Amino acid sequence: MIEENPVVMLCGVMWHVVESGRASTVALCGRVLRDCRAHSRLKTVGRGNVCLGCLRAAGLDVGDET
Ligand SMILES: [Zn+2]
Repeated sequence: MIEENPVVMLCGVMWHVVESGRASTVALCGRVLRDCRAHSRLKTVGRGNVCLGCLRAAGLDVGDET
């Protein structure tokens, strides 16, 4: 189970959730991480800026279904 406030990495224009911080090579959504420009925490960047596939994989999109 992933933590409530996981590390996120900025790849392109989208933040992706990673399990192992900066050492991760693949995001939770399955995207290979290349050219990551920054890392932060989910609650710092805001859920709305994070890849939906990653949020779903982490079980963090509850209540956001539209
Ligand atoms: Zn993602």
